[in-house]
Amino acid sequence: MEKQQTQEKLPGLDAGAEAQPTAPQGSGRPRVARICLPVPLYRAFDYSVPGAESLPEAELEAAPVVGGRVAVRFAHRPMIGICTALDPADAFADPSPIEHAIDTVPLLDAHHLALAAWLADYYHYPLGEVLAAMIPAEARKGSAAEIALETAWRIRPDQAAMVQRAIREEGAASLGLGRAKAQFALLQTLNENGPLSRAAIAELGYSAAVLKALAATEWVETLSWRPKPVPPPPEPALLLTSEQATAVAAIQSGLGQFGAFLLDGVTGSGKTEVYLRALHSALADGGQALILVPEIGLTPQTVRRVQARFTDVVALHSAMNDAERWQAWLKCAQGDARILIGTRSACFASFSDLRMIIVDEEHDPSFKQQDGLRYSARDFAVVRARQEGIPVVLGSATPSLESLHNAALGRYTTLTLRERPGAAELPTLRLLDIRGHTLEEGISPQLFHVMRRHLADGGQVLTFINRRGFAPTLMCPQCGWIADCRDCDARMTLHARPEHLRCHHCGARRPPARHCEGCGHDELVPVGQGTQRAEQGLAEFFPDTPVLRIDRDVTRSQRQLAAQLDAVLEGGPMILVGTQMLAKGHHFPNVTLVAVLGADGGFFSADFRAPERMAQTIMQVAGRAGRAERAGEVWIQTYQPEHPLLQRLVKSGYGEFAQSELNARAAAEMPPTRPMALIRADATHPEEGMAFLQSLKPRLAGVEAYGPAPAPIQRISNRFRHQLMVLADDRRTLRRALLGVRDQSAPRNVRWSIDVDPYDAF
Ligand code: ADP
Ligand code: ZN
Ligand code: ZN
Repeated sequence: MEKQQTQEKLPGLDAGAEAQPTAPQGSGRPRVARICLPVPLYRAFDYSVPGAESLPEAELEAAPVVGGRVAVRFAHRPMIGICTALDPADAFADPSPIEHAIDTVPLLDAHHLALAAWLADYYHYPLGEVLAAMIPAEARKGSAAEIALETAWRIRPDQAAMVQRAIREEGAASLGLGRAKAQFALLQTLNENGPLSRAAIAELGYSAAVLKALAATEWVETLSWRPKPVPPPPEPALLLTSEQATAVAAIQSGLGQFGAFLLDGVTGSGKTEVYLRALHSALADGGQALILVPEIGLTPQTVRRVQARFTDVVALHSAMNDAERWQAWLKCAQGDARILIGTRSACFASFSDLRMIIVDEEHDPSFKQQDGLRYSARDFAVVRARQEGIPVVLGSATPSLESLHNAALGRYTTLTLRERPGAAELPTLRLLDIRGHTLEEGISPQLFHVMRRHLADGGQVLTFINRRGFAPTLMCPQCGWIADCRDCDARMTLHARPEHLRCHHCGARRPPARHCEGCGHDELVPVGQGTQRAEQGLAEFFPDTPVLRIDRDVTRSQRQLAAQLDAVLEGGPMILVGTQMLAKGHHFPNVTLVAVLGADGGFFSADFRAPERMAQTIMQVAGRAGRAERAGEVWIQTYQPEHPLLQRLVKSGYGEFAQSELNARAAAEMPPTRPMALIRADATHPEEGMAFLQSLKPRLAGVEAYGPAPAPIQRISNRFRHQLMVLADDRRTLRRALLGVRDQSAPRNVRWSIDVDPYDAF
């Protein structure tokens, strides 16, 4: 797995002159290491490497390597950085010595360092901090890059002959296992396979008790070992649809070179099957692949399908602890894992032989990091694929306008899946005009009727509401006073069980107000619908039907979510209530009705992305219906049945909706037609952030800068937020303008950041 470092592949790694390694005379031991440290400064630092002249050979510590970690002192504090160059031509004349080198083999290869440089440059973030963000927490702490050995069981070599004789002719009784059939069977398995780990033994169906009993005999012993990757199993016999076959062939023919594919396939059209098939060819003779998914907890089915099809699959997600993440990372880096399936930050993982990247649900907002290094994992995946010369597949039923734009420009190859395989049909979408109707718990009489029909037919009903909690607001019916957060310009959401008010922006909680703070009236009323309220109401309307709520409040634990999803998969008639979480890629074969309780909000927001987001959510939720033999129906309650965007979406589908949105964005000269960046500042006094942004404005050359203006929610946690919107005609101009401001220093109590390609622009 040793990787060769090639210096010339590392463009723009430091602020100084190009680093040219000059081999030191004699020993070959470097004398100066250029180190990038996790500090908010746009530069690297030179340190000396204690050399042969000062220490005898025997006491020499390992020298730093490019791409390896080095422990140093910085401003009197111990710190761990990444070495990006050795003996640079413009080395600092009098550097202080390093403490010691942690890695003797690079942790990050040349591709990685080049990609780090790209991230630092594109997102205007210090390289040292980019590098720190790219490696797992455990690596930042300096833990050794060693894969933990597993305990395995094997037949004791000195007893092997005896055991084999028993297996061949003499039988279990000769080993004293005459009445222990399972133990004897396990012994036979060990004889055929060689050492097996606890996990492998369990996977083969042996209970822990059987292993324990056999381990206590004289026939087996334990050893520490590192399991070798095994070849993937053969492809399954499932016949691809012709659309799928065309897509798979296109991706396969692109192996070994860069190519970006947009897999635009309606919900349930078998995109996952396309990924799996393409992976088979990518993994041939030791290749590796990376699969990015929005949230592992929300896509356990995807993970399971990958795990069922391939061996040596590792996951990387937020529910794992630091040590587990580090081990998963090392297995990819050292070639012990074949497939990495993970959320956003998995895009930075190291591989020994990466051959393909897949981004599932590429439109999903969770691919964009909202703080620190504000990268888009989807966009980075494409850049990485180009850097490594491999194909990348972006899949979605509702592609982002960015990806559709790139496809239209010919940067991406579009692969289309229009049909669901087998008997499954796409559901029809219907708008339900609720003007003038009395709603009960947010549900119109007509929808109520439809729900009852589907449940009576044995189907499951999925109701979608955009808000968690009981009700979005607690209001005084006398004077209109609304319970709001003391620290934010936002109203508190009412939650039930236990009843409390919660701010969804800063997380503050307090007991619900008993009296109106405006007029003293003592009967405050919850206004609007949240998932808890709908759950409660539906349970009253349908006392004989189980109602299952799925939102972030109930599904904090992965296990709980998985159990709930299983209940849905196996269950008969039932009602699901949930937020966007329900929309993400689940396969619910028994859902026949999807009801969208309120679809209006998205079309009136000030955010230019709101209609796109709303349309994606509606189509994704709708896509949960009719995924198996039974046909599905989708009903959308709205007060705006004539709204042109809603009409277009329902009548013509997402593709035409997206095209008209793209046209509108082009006319308004907004992204993706023109690149955008947002410069945000926040401070304890409203004027401070504003004044700082104002001072940046004249430095932004060649671009349009709008603002500074207050953020849509101006105050969060008692900090006042402002933003400057920057639009440019092209990337180069945007980059140059931002370079002109990125190292400005703000007053002490002003925090500020640059967000390139912001997701939440308002
Ligand atoms: P998507 O990822 O596009 O939402 P899936 O890959 O989950 O769609 O496929 C939807 C369903 O169709 C799954 O149950 C899957 O097993 C099934 N399926 C996919 N491809 C085929 C095929 N070629 N023949 C039969 N069933 C298929
Ligand atoms: Zn009042
Ligand atoms: Zn708050």
